[in-house]
Amino acid sequence: NVSLSNATDEERIVVSIRVRPLNEKEKVRHDVSEWECVSNNTIRFKNSNVVEQRSLSNDAYTFDKVFGERCSTNQVYEQGIKEVALSVVSGINCSIFAYGQTSSGKTYTMTGITEYAVRDIYDYIGKKGTVVGKLTEETLKDKNQLQQLLFVCAAERTTEETAMNETSSRSHQILRLTVESNPNDYARTARSGTLIASVNFVDLAGSERASQALSAGTRLREGSHINRSLLTLGTVIRKLSKERNGHIPYRDSKLTRILQNSLGGNARTAIICTISPARSQVEQSRNTLFFAGCAK
Ligand code: ADP
Ligand code: MG
Repeated sequence: NVSLSNATDEERIVVSIRVRPLNEKEKVRHDVSEWECVSNNTIRFKNSNVVEQRSLSNDAYTFDKVFGERCSTNQVYEQGIKEVALSVVSGINCSIFAYGQTSSGKTYTMTGITEYAVRDIYDYIGKKGTVVGKLTEETLKDKNQLQQLLFVCAAERTTEETAMNETSSRSHQILRLTVESNPNDYARTARSGTLIASVNFVDLAGSERASQALSAGTRLREGSHINRSLLTLGTVIRKLSKERNGHIPYRDSKLTRILQNSLGGNARTAIICTISPARSQVEQSRNTLFFAGCAK
């Protein structure tokens, strides 16, 4: 069962890595898998191109959790996300991010995680007699209504795959669920006894945008806004993981401004970084692991 106690500083940003299986396109190109999870928190670059293998310590990276190609989204959720997401029912704001290059598995992972988290939040509220759930503009009466909404969201996104990846590589998606709960039955009408907190499920724009920003010649205005949001998010998370009292530049991007109350302070954060296992993508995967490392 999940512990709902207050988090210590060390626990506030939970960083996990997920490696998806090679996809058909990669297999057709005879691309090979270059990453291997050597334990439940360490991932290693195999570097199978090089005859003389480097030592394990040279190219191994440790995070809170790593999930290999055969892990299910349910495992990712149970071990890396659940505890953070459920803190919302104790009145603690939280954010769950999926970070990674386009087609590395952000949406695949986040869709499953959102379903599991919504199920658990509602199950908990059943048990505890909590009253209202609210999703953006909609006030929800029951779990089915929420599932219907999620279904509508999914349907809107499941347009043609290329078109979808075009859009999702450029835009961030935030699903915010606000949970209003009243831990004391007798205080049901007393405003002061009510806990209100939000959980944000954030499917970020493709991280290749952030790497592009670091190279010269980015011209598109939209592109540079997205880059700015991703870069600022990186800075904010890096600063939050080091010290929570210094200046945190939330206001430097729209994304971090929107999420300000769910990052830092008493809020809890989980980041799931997704990578392709393919040799052809190693540079992007390293960038993603670098981002993940900075968040720790
Ligand atoms: P992104 O949102 O990062 O651009 P997607 O989540 O759309 O990437 O994933 C790209 C493709 O790979 C999709 O067809 C998706 O179903 C598939 N995929 C992603 N992760 C996994 C996984 N862990 N297992 C199986 N298929 C996956
Ligand atoms: Mg996507």
